Amino acid sequence: MRRTLEDTYRHKGLRKKLVEVIKEKGITDEAVLETMNAIPRHFFLDSAFDDVAYEDRAFPIGEGQTISQPYTVAYQTQLLEVRPGQKVLEIGTGSAYQAVVLAKMGVKVFTIERQKNLFEENKKFAYLKQFPFIKFFYGDGYQGLPTYAPFDRVLITAAAPEVPQKLLDQLKPGGMMVIPVGTGSIQQMKRIWKQADGTIKEEVFDHFSFVPMLTGKN
Ligand code: SAH
Repeated sequence: MRRTLEDTYRHKGLRKKLVEVIKEKGITDEAVLETMNAIPRHFFLDSAFDDVAYEDRAFPIGEGQTISQPYTVAYQTQLLEVRPGQKVLEIGTGSAYQAVVLAKMGVKVFTIERQKNLFEENKKFAYLKQFPFIKFFYGDGYQGLPTYAPFDRVLITAAAPEVPQKLLDQLKPGGMMVIPVGTGSIQQMKRIWKQADGTIKEEVFDHFSFVPMLTGKN
C-alpha cells in the first residue's frame, strides 16, 4: 500500500468538518471527538483515497475488508467508556485506526487480526511506531488472548453471529464488551456488562453494518 504520511492544513480542515458531522449525528463524548480530530485518518488508507478520506464512509483496505465509518468508530468508542490505564482487547485490527483511537485515549490495546496481509501491512506502517501501548496479534479473534486476560473492555469491530463465550470469559468482573450482533447484513450494537458477581447484563443500541467476524485465520 502507498500511504501519504503528511498532514496538511487541508487534511486538518476536512477532519474538523468530519468531527462536526459526527457530532451532529449524535456523538456527545468530547474525549472521543477530540481524539478523532487529532488522528490523520488518511494515513490509514491508500493515497488513492486521499481526497475522500474525511467523508463519513467506510473504505476498502484490501482483502475484502474495510476501515469502519468514522461515525461507527465514534459510536463504539463512546459506548466503550474507556478510562486511562485500562486493558482493551480489540477483535479486527483492520487498518489499525480504531486501535489508535483507543491508544490515544490512554488505554493499553491488544488487537487481533485474522488476515495475514493486513497484519503484515500494519508492521510496515511507520506511524504506528508512536504507539508502543498497542500490541498486534495475528490469529482468530474468537479465541481471544487467554495469556493477557482478563481485560477491562472488549471491542468487536466485525459482525458476530452471537456473543462469543470465550471472549466473555476473558472480561474482568465489572468489565464490558461492545459488539455488533447479527447474521444478516444489518446487526444490532450491544453492550454486555459482566457484573461484579459474574452475572451478565445486556443493553441494545442502534443498527449497523459490519463485515462478518469469521472463524480461523487467513
Ligand atoms: N477496527 C478496524 C475495522 C476493520 S473491519 C479498523 O479500524 O479499520 C473488521 C476486521 O475484522 C477485518 O479486518 C477482518 O479481517 C477482521 N476479522 C474478522 N473476523 C475476525 C476474527 N475472527 N479475528 C480477528 N479479526 C477478524
